[in-house]
Amino acid sequence: MREREQLQQTLNQMDGSGYGAYKRLVGRYDLGACDLVVDHVQSDPYAPPSSIRAVVSLAESSVPAEATATREQRTAVADFLARDLAARLAEASRDLRITRPGQEVLERSSVVIDGDAVEVRMTASLPAAGRRVKGRAAARLLTEELPRLIEDSALLEGMDRERLDEHVRLHLDQLDLYGQLAERGLIAFVGDGAVLPRRSGVSDLPLEGGVAFRSPASLRTKFTLRSGRTVTGMGIPRGVTVIVGGGYHGKSTLLRAVERGVYPHLGGDGREWVLTVPDAVSIRAEDGRAAAGVDISPFISDLPSGADTAAFTTANASGSTSQATNLAEALEAGASALLIDEDTSATNFMIRDRAMRELIPAGSEPITPFVDRVRALFDERGVSTVLVAGGSGAFFPVADHVVAMDTYVPEEVTEHARRIAARHAAQDDAAEAPAAGAFARSGERIPARGCLRSEERKPPRARGRETIQAGKEDIDLAYLPQLVDGAQTAAIALLLERVGASLDGETSLGEAVRRALEALEEEGLDSLTGPRRIRGDLALPRRHEVHAAVSRHRRLRVR
Ligand code: ADP
Ligand code: MG
Repeated sequence: MREREQLQQTLNQMDGSGYGAYKRLVGRYDLGACDLVVDHVQSDPYAPPSSIRAVVSLAESSVPAEATATREQRTAVADFLARDLAARLAEASRDLRITRPGQEVLERSSVVIDGDAVEVRMTASLPAAGRRVKGRAAARLLTEELPRLIEDSALLEGMDRERLDEHVRLHLDQLDLYGQLAERGLIAFVGDGAVLPRRSGVSDLPLEGGVAFRSPASLRTKFTLRSGRTVTGMGIPRGVTVIVGGGYHGKSTLLRAVERGVYPHLGGDGREWVLTVPDAVSIRAEDGRAAAGVDISPFISDLPSGADTAAFTTANASGSTSQATNLAEALEAGASALLIDEDTSATNFMIRDRAMRELIPAGSEPITPFVDRVRALFDERGVSTVLVAGGSGAFFPVADHVVAMDTYVPEEVTEHARRIAARHAAQDDAAEAPAAGAFARSGERIPARGCLRSEERKPPRARGRETIQAGKEDIDLAYLPQLVDGAQTAAIALLLERVGASLDGETSLGEAVRRALEALEEEGLDSLTGPRRIRGDLALPRRHEVHAAVSRHRRLRVR
């Protein structure tokens, strides 16, 4: 008898048994179209669903061997297959699930092309009547629905070669463009024709009828990519770029697209040619966050509480101190560019106008505003800034480029803004020049040995995109706009354990995170769980979001 019929028979015979009988399913079965591997069986009908895998040999699949030669190709092909399966399951099944990818093409664990096989990781809700096994329904689910799904999908019969090739070609061209940004001296590229606005505040899909992006002539640049394709668009150069314009003219929408441009987007997203250096970090105010030993002294000193701002520690930061903390941590994690929107900034962190400088003398004001430091950040540390500032011209004198948004269309107005800034400087007496060397000290934080370990033995666990539960405390990640997917959060939760274990009282936080991520990139997402607990719900995070999660851990203690 074939294994498929055997499994069918086993399930039929289980019908009516206690739910625990399903545990016997753990193992591997040849179902014809695919092999089924049952890795983990849920303990009762209300527990998280069971983990299964469908495995198809690469040679028998419709995936062309030449499309899986490199890691980059495999990422794109796996992404294509995962989207195809997710779309089919959304329509066809309530009991089989695959983690649904968002608009970004990320390295994920839901579909893995490894050696000579394609592996699809899914969950199955094994059917129950009360707390009893519904054997016949389970047999239909696992021996009929599942193989039919795989058969019909892009893995086999449902492959559309042209679409696959286009998907892979786009991905490789995007990676090529990322690689060319540095040699062109750019930190971001926004393609002509891009559609930046989203359908709504809660949808990441493109706005229908959105006005297509058009680069100002002075910033237009052209790339020739590996497939031979050429793209044109606005290059945002290294240095300080200020985006201005009237309210509701599309400033924040542009910045948000640049922020997301650290990840490649799929074709049709509207942002597939918005590409930003992968180590650009969005900085915002986040009052209420915790901080441990962060050097915010370039921005804040002499707090009335007497707190040491070279090793700022709090359970509850204010608007300005939280933004300074976020910025200092981004530098610690190696950011080469900062992205800042007035909408989500603390005004007193960003600027201070003349009248206020007159009323409150520098000696009584702990804050050196960002406007006084943004130049030094670039000149002394090579860190660029893209900034949205519609409400203040304070940044004109320190900007390399000023771009004005007018009805969603950008125009370069650098010269005009400079002339205005020069006139104002002449009228003002004694505009004080900020002191150099503020960023000379590099505050490498050394966490105390084992400080992240909790009394409870439970490992940290992700709850959606925004939260990681670590012991009794929640780590709040809601204000990390470049953490884009719950699957990344799930991977960060697992990484926290690794990073925590490597804190020996001598390793710096930056180094611990860097090492953990290097190992992950080298060994792949499965290395986070090991072969006994394979998961399909992980995606590769950036170093910056891992660093941010550790930094928000309320148990973090710095020596
Ligand atoms: P600002 O930051 O300049 O005040 P926003 O970026 O918040 O403006 O945009 C204001 C509104 O305009 C938003 O609802 C946004 O979705 C919409 N919008 C932005 N860019 C475009 C565009 N290119 N085409 C159509 N609508 C847009
Ligand atoms: Mg705005």
